[in-house]
Amino acid sequence: MGVSKNSSCLEALRAVVGDGAFALEPARVVAGGRLVTEVAPKNAEELSACLRALTAEGEAVLVEGAGTQMNYGNPVEGAATLLSCRHLSGVVEFDSADGVIQAGAGTPLRELAKVVATEGWLLPLDPPDRGGSLGGTLATAVSGPRERGLGPVRDAVLGLDTVLASGDRARCGARVVKNVTGYDMAKLYVGSLGTLGVIEKAWLRLKPVPASCRVVELEVPRTEGAFELALAAARRGSARGVGLRAGDANSLEGPGGSLRLVAEFAGEAPATEADAGWLLRGRTACAPAEGGMDAVRDLQGRPLPGGLRARVHVLPLRLAEAWQCLEGPGVELLAYPEPAVLHARFVPRSDGAEDFVWLDEVLGRLDAMRHSLGAEVVIDELPEAAPGDHDVFWGAANLGLMRALKDRFDPSRILNPGRFAGRI
Ligand SMILES: Cc1cc2nc3c(=O)[nH]c(=O)nc-3n(C[C@H](O)[C@H](O)[C@H](O)COP(=O)(O)OP(=O)(O)OC[C@H]3O[C@@H](n4cnc5c(N)ncnc54)[C@H](O)[C@@H]3O)c2cc1C
Repeated sequence: MGVSKNSSCLEALRAVVGDGAFALEPARVVAGGRLVTEVAPKNAEELSACLRALTAEGEAVLVEGAGTQMNYGNPVEGAATLLSCRHLSGVVEFDSADGVIQAGAGTPLRELAKVVATEGWLLPLDPPDRGGSLGGTLATAVSGPRERGLGPVRDAVLGLDTVLASGDRARCGARVVKNVTGYDMAKLYVGSLGTLGVIEKAWLRLKPVPASCRVVELEVPRTEGAFELALAAARRGSARGVGLRAGDANSLEGPGGSLRLVAEFAGEAPATEADAGWLLRGRTACAPAEGGMDAVRDLQGRPLPGGLRARVHVLPLRLAEAWQCLEGPGVELLAYPEPAVLHARFVPRSDGAEDFVWLDEVLGRLDAMRHSLGAEVVIDELPEAAPGDHDVFWGAANLGLMRALKDRFDPSRILNPGRFAGRI
């Protein structure tokens, strides 16, 4: 990126947002990009004018919400400008009678959760409490252990206002459930990692705070069907989330060891009592670990500097096989039976082995498992030193169609270029 090109871009952005665009000194290195300019529009009009200016300059941007998960995805290609959504913040409308809310993309989820809780509602998005924003959560669409009860991230979205690379504003869906005639375009942006458009604000469907919540924790020997029990628990009517975890990376559980099963039942009291009672029949609960299901969720998202975190999606009945494929020293595993996901944390070796040798081995094991189990694997965190040639999404089906969408939505490739599956 030439200095003169970037300074003309900064001038163009200043003409739109004044002091809201500035030089980053020193440059910020984020997601593989070396960023020398930042722009933080305050509303949809400014966002639209910024993107129009950036497209005219041919200047790629890295979009940021609260910046808590910028290492997720492939490295950005050729972006020198950071487009921050932090000022697109605040509740626009909250209809507590209907249980719907519209808020700006930069709104901290923590704040939104507090607002809706005052009226007895629950935000059906359940990320670790690290200060993430609404837009970042929708753009990544990574779910946690409560996906069983809360549903996938895209189901929480009723409507989105987005701004395309051209600066054109698009509205898809709105506050009313089932109001979409034609393609449900809002779903397209959810999980597309900011590569098709910038989310400006969103309408969300809320869930009522459950009347009762019971958490049961058990130690279950692997030989006694820990995976089958976890799946049966996850299929109980009031199950909101079920997790299975092993010891830490240094303990060798072995196929005869025990796993810790954490089950959360939420809903009307008779249903949660019945389901907790079913799980405890003939078994003894262990003292609950601090945090219950929140602790499981936080373990999933806990960063692992220098290590590798992978997410493996398989059929529920193949979860035990997936676990066996990956278990061993230096690996921490966490499984959710429904929908079936295995989270694996590979702690780097401390025996001085060349980092890339260790990394190649880990990637080789994951690749072998993709083929043998028909699993879908996504890498949530790669060591910073990793060579940049590995696609963390391992390609994707329908890449041709996805590229055609990218070409249509962002023909100049200025939005988060290279970040998504197939380096779209
Ligand atoms: C249990 C659990 C564990 C999780 N663990 C992880 C994890 O390990 N890694 C992870 O990435 N996520 C994880 N998530 C998802 C997490 O909720 C979000 O990644 C997080 O809230 C991001 O918020 P942020 O504002 O910090 O996003 P940022 O870090 O700012 O951005 C994340 C991504 O979204 C894009 N983006 C941000 N705002 C917008 C916008 N307005 N429009 C378009 N694109 C935008 C950015 O370009 C970036 O690629 C987890 C969720 C759950 C439920």
